[in-house]
Amino acid sequence: MNIHEYQAKELLKKFGVAVPDGIPAMTVEEAVAAAGKLPGPLYVVKAQIHAGGRGAGHFTDNPTGKGGVRLCKTADDVKAAAEAMLGKVLVTKQTGAEGKEVQRLYVTDGVDIEKEYYCSVLLDRATSRVTFMVSTEGGMDIEEVAEHSPEKIIKVSVDTASGFSGFHARKLAFGLGLSGAQVKSASKFFANLYQAFIALDASIVEINPMILVGDEVMALDAKMNFDENALFRHPDVAALRDETEEDANEKIAKDNELSYVRLDGNIGCMVNGAGLAMATMDIIKLYGGEPANFLDVGGGATAERVTVAFKIILSDPNVKGILVNIFGGIMKCDVIAQGVIAAAKEVSLSVPLVVRLEGTNVEQGKDLLNNSGLPIIAADNLADAAQKVVDATKKAQEAA
Ligand code: GDP
Ligand code: MG
Repeated sequence: MNIHEYQAKELLKKFGVAVPDGIPAMTVEEAVAAAGKLPGPLYVVKAQIHAGGRGAGHFTDNPTGKGGVRLCKTADDVKAAAEAMLGKVLVTKQTGAEGKEVQRLYVTDGVDIEKEYYCSVLLDRATSRVTFMVSTEGGMDIEEVAEHSPEKIIKVSVDTASGFSGFHARKLAFGLGLSGAQVKSASKFFANLYQAFIALDASIVEINPMILVGDEVMALDAKMNFDENALFRHPDVAALRDETEEDANEKIAKDNELSYVRLDGNIGCMVNGAGLAMATMDIIKLYGGEPANFLDVGGGATAERVTVAFKIILSDPNVKGILVNIFGGIMKCDVIAQGVIAAAKEVSLSVPLVVRLEGTNVEQGKDLLNNSGLPIIAADNLADAAQKVVDATKKAQEAA
């Protein structure tokens, strides 16, 4: 689960992580009032969306204008910035072309930056350790740094059994070329970040940029992501969820215990089991197609849940063909067939549907589908199914 920058900073502050003062604002009036409470003479108005790259982004109503992070010198500037952002759609490298509507702002105390750095804390699954990544290339896209100058990224991994120590902190601070009082401030900063990461069951904390103000290290930006399986332990964190920032279908899927992730392609996939779902996406790509989603209906899905899953796939306007690929083990093929038929009838199905069923009650399932009156293309195996859905989707796309 993602949260906004201002929420992440409020959480981190409780763990002693230094952040510039700031006040969230939902309206232009609140933004102006917030500026009045900050010391000045510099203010920053920051669009709060669940995506980074805001500063370099643009608003759809003013493509050549300023982005979602604006430095302001007066209350009037703050008012103008707030008016230019609230209710407007901000497009950044991370939002995709459709952008995100800005519904919240964060007005912060503008700080005089000596230097920008990059710092993130995440769980490295390969080593089962908490890993710090820092770089002198702050404020930049870290993926780009990783690609073009990987030597500029310093990694330090921490064994959670023994925890974070001064040794880790010094390795990070010296790696960034810090000295004297800066090392002391940075060490405290890293130790506090680690405590927050562990205590809150975060999956990532990304500070980009981490900055030097005089000799003090601060978080100028903050992104936090949480392990959803541990959210029940943190009702205060769970309460920070902003559903308007989340894909509506992903929420419906979650409520129905379906694993759904929307992607950019045009072939909708309904599969049972995460492994088979991945394999299905791979084989669609192998045959030259692009999956529109990852969808795992799970092992014990009911006909109702399959119906919901099918509706979610069909509600994506990019979907021009669907592949149902089910291996019926715990999940029975006839149940899947009932769900597909019910959903296809409810949402008048207008795209080609390829079905590959295998396993328990496969004959009943196939009979149901064959007698449903739906224009279903039957497939015998995974490769056959992928080829058929890629061909049918291409034709449907060309005809559209
Ligand atoms: P992002 O574009 O979504 O990553 O938003 P950030 O919070 O990282 O801000 C983008 C950039 O705006 C930073 O890298 C800074 O260069 C600049 N910026 C943000 N806040 C301040 C500030 O208080 N003072 C100054 N001088 N620059 C700032
Ligand atoms: Mg940033």
